[in-house]
Amino acid sequence: MEPVSTVFIVGAGPGDPELLTVKALRLISEADVVVYDRLVSEPILELIPAGTTRIFAGKAARDHHMPQEEINELLVGLARGNRKVVRLKGGDPFIFGRGSEEAVHLARNGIPFEVVPGITASAGCAAYAGIPLTHRGLSRGVNFVTGHCQEGHLDLNWKSLADPDTTLVVYMGLTNISLICTELIAAGLPADTPAAAIHKGTTPEQRSVLSILERLADDVQGAGLAAPTLLVVGRVVELAETLNWRLPVSGDDMEAHG
Ligand code: SAH
Repeated sequence: MEPVSTVFIVGAGPGDPELLTVKALRLISEADVVVYDRLVSEPILELIPAGTTRIFAGKAARDHHMPQEEINELLVGLARGNRKVVRLKGGDPFIFGRGSEEAVHLARNGIPFEVVPGITASAGCAAYAGIPLTHRGLSRGVNFVTGHCQEGHLDLNWKSLADPDTTLVVYMGLTNISLICTELIAAGLPADTPAAAIHKGTTPEQRSVLSILERLADDVQGAGLAAPTLLVVGRVVELAETLNWRLPVSGDDMEAHG
């Protein structure tokens, strides 16, 4: 039997390289090959040693660089070639990251793997925007949902998401932002519920738009935010101005609306 190496499915966090785990940093420095996504930030890619092979497996909604099956096969092939593989993914690999699909494929092919959690965008962006995801008296829970839909139909349980005592975090929500806000209001969430959009959270280019549910889509469009952007809806957003702890650095632009 040929030796097979372990594939490490590693979370890179939301962008700030100092939010990498110690384990992620060690594995990156020991890898033969790093297979990385579009969301892995440049300063993190710079931590990959010069002699290490880098493979971009990035994915953009309309621009599929490498189909998922191809990535799955690539990981199996590299492991069977006995290369030390780090599969580096933005945020946490098991939150809207398809890391679990890759893990299932590895498991089915008898390839050993380990999963290294990362700071997911909601934790990173909210902290760096001064928004606590829960806060006594304002929010007693958090929902993470994806705003991306495959066939033009966003099938979320709006009634259960429209809870004024729970924070809602929407990943990949930019394309459907108007629909998301309209559906939440239709399902009973007050139109003046505080809502935020955070672009490139935890990086020097972080920009936040603070608004209310019924104006969020217009304000985000007015500010020209592009992906990656995370939406946060709930009364906790009203703390953002008080808790905005980040020193203004160049490129940092806190826009307050409403
Ligand atoms: N596995 C990742 C999420 C991948 S889905 C994680 O745990 O964070 C991609 C979506 O995550 C983006 O569309 C955006 O909504 C969000 N996202 C990831 N990184 C972000 C960042 N630095 N700033 C804002 N949103 C981010």
